Amino acid sequence: MTAETVILDGNRVATDMKEALKGRINQLAGKGIIPCLATILVGGDPSSATYVKMKGNACKRLGIRSIRIELPEHTSTADLIAEIQKLNVDPSVHGILLQHPVPHHIDERAAFEAIGIEKDVDGVTTLGFAQNAFGFANFPSCTPAAILAIMDYYRISMEGKHAVVIGRSPILGKPVSMMLLNRNATVTTCHSKTANLEEMIRLADIVVAAVGKPKFVQGDWIKQGAVVLDAGYNEGNIGDVDYEACKERASAITPVPAGVGPVTIATLLKHTVDAAEKLA
Ligand code: NAP
Repeated sequence: MTAETVILDGNRVATDMKEALKGRINQLAGKGIIPCLATILVGGDPSSATYVKMKGNACKRLGIRSIRIELPEHTSTADLIAEIQKLNVDPSVHGILLQHPVPHHIDERAAFEAIGIEKDVDGVTTLGFAQNAFGFANFPSCTPAAILAIMDYYRISMEGKHAVVIGRSPILGKPVSMMLLNRNATVTTCHSKTANLEEMIRLADIVVAAVGKPKFVQGDWIKQGAVVLDAGYNEGNIGDVDYEACKERASAITPVPAGVGPVTIATLLKHTVDAAEKLA
């Protein structure tokens, strides 16, 4: 590790974000409103169950109500949409989060689209995605927003920088690419068919790893002084970058755990409070 490498501490960013929400939650309480996040979990995937539990616990600690809807593995798309529609019309619910991935037989896109835009706190609907692309979303996807929040917190400029995003999923790679572009970075989005991935990453001032493969990004792919943001969260708390090796060259890097993850949850809480305030 070079002496100057800054460890981008997601816990610190998340703590500050949550502190800033406390007064707003109290103000809403004064009006008789408790922000409420509904999470829907379909099937028994243990990792998804853990994520949903973590989100519920984070809500509880801050005085945000959370409703956890657990549906069996064999739930049909129509039944899932019906559950979402019930939450759409429930005035006590401010945010709806459908935990991804859902079982294969479900049309996930159709289910996401059923979420009302005013409750789409993770930016998963077509409209939420498009608003984010245009740069005026109320609720940009939480993990991309968390990545930018970390850079803002540490005053890392994006303007004029070459950002290389590895991954193009609708909830992570694509929206973070658009958000970086909106912040005047020059963005290259890579994916599994990218021919010269290592070469691209070697040119990057900012590397965002959203691949879903443990320790995928190698230390010698990182340009000296680059900023590395690891959105990956793989079994065993392992990120998508080889942290120790990348730290040797990076000027700043997020660890896993305690990097992007806690800020993603804090962003989800913030969006839920934002949604409750809008409704109030
Ligand atoms: P995903 O939907 O599986 O997408 C992975 C992306 O990586 C795809 O675009 C894929 O390309 C690309 N890819 C796969 N292999 C590649 C390769 N060899 N070279 C270049 N690109 C490759 O995953 P995701 O939902 O975006 O999640 C990505 C990571 O972030 C996972 O580790 C996940 O656990 C984590 N995550 C973390 C949080 C958090 O709060 N920290 C939230 C969500 C996700 P193709 O499009 O060509 O298939």
